Amino acid sequence: MTTKLVRQRGVLHLIAVIPLSLFLFVLFDPKLWGAAAGAALVTGTATLARRWWLQLVGLLLAALLAYSAGYRIEFITNPEGGFFYLTQWSWLITLGWIIAISQGVAVLGQLDPSGKLLTKVLVISGSALVLISLWQGQLLGVLILLALLVLVLGLRASRVPTERWSRAVGYGLALAAIVGLVKATASVALLAPVIALGLPFTGTLSIVYSHRLHLWRERPWMLSLLYLCSAYVSVLAFLATRLELGALAWVGGATAMGAGLLAWALVRLPQTAVTAKKFVLFGTPIDCVTLDGAVQKIESHLSVNREGRSEGVPALVCTPDTTAILRAQRDPRLRAVYERADLVTPDGMGIVWAGRLLGAPVPERVSGIDLVEKLFASRRAPLRVFLLGAAPGVADQAARKLTERYPTLQIVGTHHGYFGESEHVLGLIHQAQPDVVLVGLGVPRQELWMLENRPKLKASVLIGVGGCFDVWAGRLTRAPLRWQRLGLEWFYRVLQEPKRLGRVSAIPVFLGQISLAKLAQIFAE
Ligand code: UDP
Repeated sequence: MTTKLVRQRGVLHLIAVIPLSLFLFVLFDPKLWGAAAGAALVTGTATLARRWWLQLVGLLLAALLAYSAGYRIEFITNPEGGFFYLTQWSWLITLGWIIAISQGVAVLGQLDPSGKLLTKVLVISGSALVLISLWQGQLLGVLILLALLVLVLGLRASRVPTERWSRAVGYGLALAAIVGLVKATASVALLAPVIALGLPFTGTLSIVYSHRLHLWRERPWMLSLLYLCSAYVSVLAFLATRLELGALAWVGGATAMGAGLLAWALVRLPQTAVTAKKFVLFGTPIDCVTLDGAVQKIESHLSVNREGRSEGVPALVCTPDTTAILRAQRDPRLRAVYERADLVTPDGMGIVWAGRLLGAPVPERVSGIDLVEKLFASRRAPLRVFLLGAAPGVADQAARKLTERYPTLQIVGTHHGYFGESEHVLGLIHQAQPDVVLVGLGVPRQELWMLENRPKLKASVLIGVGGCFDVWAGRLTRAPLRWQRLGLEWFYRVLQEPKRLGRVSAIPVFLGQISLAKLAQIFAE
């Protein structure tokens, strides 16, 4: 349908509604007139106005129209018995109710323009409605829903775009609920739980759908709006229905939402796989090595590269912790570094436990600091090392302490980690001719820096070491061994650096994702 034709139809729609509304007004009661005119206003603005806020204005006017025509939530049943009288809040609650339901349903219409989602919503709501109506001995709700269903099927069959009429369907639902509220307070039970059940349920469905339709990234605000509407309506429904119905709505809604989120998360979860030597955790390949094995690997890179150091590209060693793994899921640039690294060790008990749960042979935690200290300690021949990172002065301090501790170690240069252009730093490293460059710029800066500058560096091995320099310099202390074994080193660091508290939020996310990965594994088997 061309835009012009759609507009013409929209105008016709509005013009036809005026005599029809007047006719209804004269012949019947103002409520029918209000509903018809309001629905026409909503559909008319959806057809004519492309801007979302104009459509909302249309909806607000339609809600006001409905309110003045007598659709008012004046009192609602008290679950404990009796009623809540809304008095001066009546208009606010009524408008909120109409807008929330209409807009919630409109979002569904926009998320899935084929109208299938909306039809499913009506069918789901309808099934619940039929059950509740039968239980209460009322058929009004069934009739309303049947009428809406016929209308929706008719509109779909005539290929009218869903986004033009979905808001009006919501408007009809909202008014039908109010009629129940006003005429017989008990009958709010007809629609409220259905909507409370229906909207969270549809919210869930829409998440799954939006993922399939690739709408999730483009229109996240729509889903937020949907949930806002859903939450508002659920709260009202909870207040308005008898306790057990409200509870049913909440439990049903929450379960449905949980199930949908689970399905969505399973679909969306990045790859997790186990090969003989690698544990690919959410896209990051981790080497299943012991601390000694990792040191040996670095040693082999050192001896291979030693002869042809001027030509060879340095080996790249990364030691991601749990938060880095989570970050790599969102950041393809960081993931690319881990994918291209020569050695990636698990610097977190969380990763080790995840490996055990998912059947990967991750023998132990290999933290950056343990790896480097073990390399220095086991070294018989001299080792030339450049320290790059941390606040000014810290790397020098670390260099002094390290050379006292490790006799074969030669710190051939240091530079702090707060530099802009890399040229100067690259020049310093070039002159120093190190075997190993330790890069402590924090995740992801150090990883990205190492990958970008690897071809320009004449060294055998680059190792990303995070905050190690601060520990060697004595500015931070490491957690006691027992804390480390219990996987609590992160907590110890939070105690020392409270600004790291934000990172703690990664723990439940990681736990949740690991559980999902396990579930996915069980399903796959
Ligand atoms: N750092 C740096 N340059 C920067 C940002 C950070 O040298 O632009 C240093 C910082 O001073 C600290 C280290 O990088 O020494 C980051 O340590 P942290 O333990 O936070 O690293 P992560 O846990 O991110 O690996």
